[in-house]
Amino acid sequence: MAMYEFVCQKCNQEFEQLVFSGEIAACPGCKSTRLEKKWSLPSRPGNQDKNSYCETNLPPCNPNCCKIPSNVRR
Ligand SMILES: [Zn+2]
Repeated sequence: MAMYEFVCQKCNQEFEQLVFSGEIAACPGCKSTRLEKKWSLPSRPGNQDKNSYCETNLPPCNPNCCKIPSNVRR
């Protein structure tokens, strides 16, 4: 399984979802399965600016902070 980032083609909602093999992700808002899959953490190049201000002596800066183990991120 892997965490993917999707953009719903119907309502344009962006969301992340854990997808198990053989499972089809659906939009949490409108339940549409017409989704555009974006590449996910942490290999996505744009992810860096999200974490760049994450200081080691501060609590996690956001729900996807690099300090939060990937299995509890949402
Ligand atoms: Zn949707």
